[in-house]
Amino acid sequence: MAMMTGKEYIESLRELRPDVYFMGERIPNVVDEPMFAPHINTAAMTYELAHDPDHAGIMTATSHLTGKTINRFTHIHHSIDDLVNKVRMMRLLGRKTGTCFQRCVGLDGLNALYVITYAMDAKLGTTYHKRFKDFLGFVQENDLMSAGAMTDARGDRSLRPHQQKNPDMYLHITERNDDGIIVNGAKLHITGVINSHQIIAMPTRAMVQEDRDFAVAFATPVDTKGIKLVFARQTNDMRRLDGSLDTGNPKYANVGGEALIIFKDVFIPWERVFMAGEYDFAGQLVEIFAGHHRANYGGCKVGLADVVTGASYWLADAHGVAKSSHILDKLTEMTSMAETCWSCSLACSYEGRKTPSGAYNINPLLASVTKLNITRMVYEWMRLAQDIAGGKIITLPSEDDLGAREMGDIITGYFAGKDGVDVKNILKMLRLVESMSVGAGLPEAMHGAGSPAAQKIIIARRSGIEDKSSLAETIVGIRRDETFEKIVGKSEKDYMDEAAEKLRSEKVKICRRVTT
Ligand code: SF4
Ligand code: FE
Repeated sequence: MAMMTGKEYIESLRELRPDVYFMGERIPNVVDEPMFAPHINTAAMTYELAHDPDHAGIMTATSHLTGKTINRFTHIHHSIDDLVNKVRMMRLLGRKTGTCFQRCVGLDGLNALYVITYAMDAKLGTTYHKRFKDFLGFVQENDLMSAGAMTDARGDRSLRPHQQKNPDMYLHITERNDDGIIVNGAKLHITGVINSHQIIAMPTRAMVQEDRDFAVAFATPVDTKGIKLVFARQTNDMRRLDGSLDTGNPKYANVGGEALIIFKDVFIPWERVFMAGEYDFAGQLVEIFAGHHRANYGGCKVGLADVVTGASYWLADAHGVAKSSHILDKLTEMTSMAETCWSCSLACSYEGRKTPSGAYNINPLLASVTKLNITRMVYEWMRLAQDIAGGKIITLPSEDDLGAREMGDIITGYFAGKDGVDVKNILKMLRLVESMSVGAGLPEAMHGAGSPAAQKIIIARRSGIEDKSSLAETIVGIRRDETFEKIVGKSEKDYMDEAAEKLRSEKVKICRRVTT
């Protein structure tokens, strides 16, 4: 099958029968459920733009397996250009949708598993990599959307997986047989899973030998027997049901659309199992996955910053204050912070390295710095967007009030801006800023790809603090400075002794001059 269009992707979801629940109800068909429509439209954008000649260079890639043109969301990065184009794709999609487009988690899962299955086979003589490549070929050929499922319930977080009173706090293998494995447990906060074709499950943390049954990775169709999906509530989600401008971003929603996945006695055939007990590779898998996802955030969230900065300027202009110095200052701050995060994202991509598998990995230190900046700066640029939007952002009447008999025109009049600007457009733009800056997108920027503490662990581990300490030691002469010795042509000690002697005699001369 060739790459799907947005429309074909939506239709392809009709063929699946996932067991989905929302607000206590079973949802028979995700495509026809109005609560899910904006999320599905957003994911569809990842398909549609691949057919747009203006964006095909970024949105598509050449499969290293088949040489065919594929959607970049199914590609294994095989060069620095691939890493850079991936984050360019993230920013582009953020700009087009103003929200999370969901498909990146599966992409990062594919790339992390590609590297890790190769590493496991090299060390242990297993055959996971070939198995994984078969799955990858299937994903590329059918242009599938995969939901990356990493975070477990984790119960008492001071305990390891095998120490939990309820073993289902971590997804785990409960049976192995000739045909495959049976798994039980859950994955939480899984972006885009209700409208994905496949689930790619991976461990959520580093593990020890006693945790081996919890060290499990696999892929399975979203409608596999025994899987239930419970869609999360979101800020102001009911607004979208009345189809009014109160929704803010009615076409694309304001967050990724997360769900709880429950696995009850789910059978996974060996062909789709990519880790089953190799506990000492779990931590490495998490780190590679998280690194890719952290790099993304300097793309997707910056795309959202472009939208909210544009909305802020539009609102300032509509109210006649676009040229005020304090507004210009705030817009400039927003742009500067967004471009700082973008620079980080580019840097961790340009500083990427080839792994033994042939796939490229980002620079993990810089990717964690990217994401740590995001956890702070998204709040800061959204704060400025709220500042520019003014009090109207929290006091707007509903669209129903604007259309109400007798009162409608009166109310509308009081929300006018400068002459010639349609009040309805002002309200639309205010609602967009409200949905982007008040909604679940903020904590998503905080916790997606790991909380700030997780980024700080990587930053601390890779900060090279010992090296930095030896730099200081070399400069003050605690450590030998060979480069300096080459420059001056003598040992550092001789140089310093001579310099001290020269200074002493100079001082004597000056003293004599002063006293005579
Ligand atoms: Fe992709 Fe960003 Fe959403 Fe993560 S938060 S899935 S990187 S759009
Ligand atoms: Fe996310």
